[in-house]
Amino acid sequence: MFESQLDFEQQKVVPAILKLLQSSAETDKDFAARLCLPVSQGGLGLAMPSVVWAPAYLGAARQLIELKVERPEALIQDALPCIPALAATPKDWPTSYGDVRKLSLESTQKKLVRLLQDNISSQLTVSVDSPNVIRSLLAADPAAMGRNPCDEGAAPMLRNHVGLPAFETGHDVCPLCLARSVNHRSVPCSAEHSLTCPFLREGLGSERHDQIRDTLAKLLRGHPWRVRVEHWLGRGSEWTVDRTKRVKARADLLLTRPGHTEPVVLDVVVSNHASASMRSKKEQYANWNVRVIPVVVRQSGGVGAVHGRGWTDEMRDVLGLDAETVGQIADAVMMACMRQQVHVFHAFMRQADAAHRQAEANGLNH
Ligand SMILES: [Zn+2]
Repeated sequence: MFESQLDFEQQKVVPAILKLLQSSAETDKDFAARLCLPVSQGGLGLAMPSVVWAPAYLGAARQLIELKVERPEALIQDALPCIPALAATPKDWPTSYGDVRKLSLESTQKKLVRLLQDNISSQLTVSVDSPNVIRSLLAADPAAMGRNPCDEGAAPMLRNHVGLPAFETGHDVCPLCLARSVNHRSVPCSAEHSLTCPFLREGLGSERHDQIRDTLAKLLRGHPWRVRVEHWLGRGSEWTVDRTKRVKARADLLLTRPGHTEPVVLDVVVSNHASASMRSKKEQYANWNVRVIPVVVRQSGGVGAVHGRGWTDEMRDVLGLDAETVGQIADAVMMACMRQQVHVFHAFMRQADAAHRQAEANGLNH
């Protein structure tokens, strides 16, 4: 039965997802298992058959015991090792019917899926969690969103997010750089480059940063912290360390809470250089007694982490949020990042196509 799930996954599910992402790329055997990972770990939070099958089967067996219905022990025994090839058997995974009997009755399946996800992510050396980005994209207000995952603007970013080439062949060198630079530089046309190409008109302004900031503010307002947006910290601030210094900083978000003396500053930066960005943000606030959490968001919308630790971990620990909430925040930030970037991708592709056509008209071969 598990084998038929694996076949279904390889022959139907993976091609359907690649079609949705408009990708003709070759994928490796671990691609399917990676898609089950949360968005913040480079997955899409999808319930992949190879990951969900055993938890569903064993979870149901556990629930049935309560109803005095026993599945044959041999079938349970056969189901126990049915996990994706990428996941080595997790430490707390049941190994006998006796173990299945002892599983907690509460969210049995969900907990087993979590064990496999953790295991897969540890094989891929990444961490943290959040739900399904494609579902949230589809459920998003189309008027506000303006795009869906099949859209030509969104697809390159999603492809990039799951580790597939963002652009199909033919776009491997940036046509804008090639057309406009005097020395005809050949710049590889990656997803990152398309967002930051110096020859792109209608490029990224501050909208992406501001969308992320506002998303965080909105989600954190439901928690017991007072949230202030774009708050100036000057010499005269109650948290200033050295009042002789003429320094100022504008915090994207300042969070305070009665009873907590140390306020928390959240500062957003979109960068693929997590370590350097974290350091410079901390230095920027050295003259104030505040706890800085640098919200380093990767160009792909993912959480920028150093040694597997990113702003979601700090937010969970410092603000006292649970893993579920932090996962939802990470997802919303990814969406906010993407909402702005799809417009830029769109502009890039339009201008790149025009550059291609112009080159052809000029008889140039590129
Ligand atoms: Zn370029």
